[in-house]
Amino acid sequence: MIYYKTAEQIELMRIAGRVVHNTLNMLEAWIKPGTTTKKLDTLAEEYIRSHDAVPSFKGYNGFIATLCVSRNEEVVHGIPSDNVFLHDGDIVSIDCGAFIHGYHGDHARTYAVGNISPDKQNLMDVTKRCLALGIEKAYPGNHLSDIGHAIQTYAESQGYSVVRDLVGHGIGQRLHEDPQVPNYGKMGRGIILKEGLVIAIEPMVNMGKAGVSTVSDGWTIVTHDRKPSAHFEHTLAITKEGPVILTNGK
Ligand code: MG
Ligand code: MG
Repeated sequence: MIYYKTAEQIELMRIAGRVVHNTLNMLEAWIKPGTTTKKLDTLAEEYIRSHDAVPSFKGYNGFIATLCVSRNEEVVHGIPSDNVFLHDGDIVSIDCGAFIHGYHGDHARTYAVGNISPDKQNLMDVTKRCLALGIEKAYPGNHLSDIGHAIQTYAESQGYSVVRDLVGHGIGQRLHEDPQVPNYGKMGRGIILKEGLVIAIEPMVNMGKAGVSTVSDGWTIVTHDRKPSAHFEHTLAITKEGPVILTNGK
């Protein structure tokens, strides 16, 4: 069931969106060789709680942390650890959720650690562009699959593949609501987008093939071929005027 939001509810969701945006901004100074992924997680949890919000992911289906921190061939859902250090040349995806005033915000960015190879930089640039192209399709009257079609078409035109096993989602009082928002598909399929729909669009783009699997910790998703993957996510509302991003700090 899809819960369409009123303008007032969307304004409340902007507060959650701002918290996650500012959390990631705060972490940027720590994205450097030698930082542990647990350090990032501790900083994020402190920041979120000090802004009267609650980490959305901690306790979600038993997940133990505030952030998902996923490096290189890790696609998403990496568990922060004292034993995992950021290294020069890594790319690292940081996914953050926060809950405040009854609503969730969900936002992810992939960062370069130190100096990265041109091919990793291009993967990140293309994935970020995929997110922007998906958001451009989030207008009332378009079909849901127009979003995924735009993402897939661009990613594949650049020689990359999109992950199919994980998708974006509706978001509101619950972190994951209907509908699912795939990053692939034909145009003109799925529901017609309507004013009040709030979704998280989150392309996961692989340098190699699309296949992924879960490692033995039960959470971390990695590419089958162990080639790098990047991930960007925004929470956005569909309004009469078009998409309004709630996790861009405005
Ligand atoms: Mg997320
Ligand atoms: Mg999400």
